[in-house]
Amino acid sequence: MASTTTNTIFMTKKCHNCLTSMPVAARRCPECKKKVGDVDKLGFAKKPVQWVAYITTLVWFQAFCFFVWWAFLKT
Ligand SMILES: [Zn+2]
Repeated sequence: MASTTTNTIFMTKKCHNCLTSMPVAARRCPECKKKVGDVDKLGFAKKPVQWVAYITTLVWFQAFCFFVWWAFLKT
């Protein structure tokens, strides 16, 4: 089985927000000032991980689980 290389080299990447091209090393879009992540295999900049949103979701999910336990399962 032949293996294909997936790490294609890009010189530029496109902003996920405004589609402006920028160097692959850029961490912020020069046009719309949004934070951008690494280049993906299509040449677009990935969205950076939004830890605040991630943690907020986790906290709300735990609160919801606690509510279900409190409302229905607590004896
Ligand atoms: Zn942009």
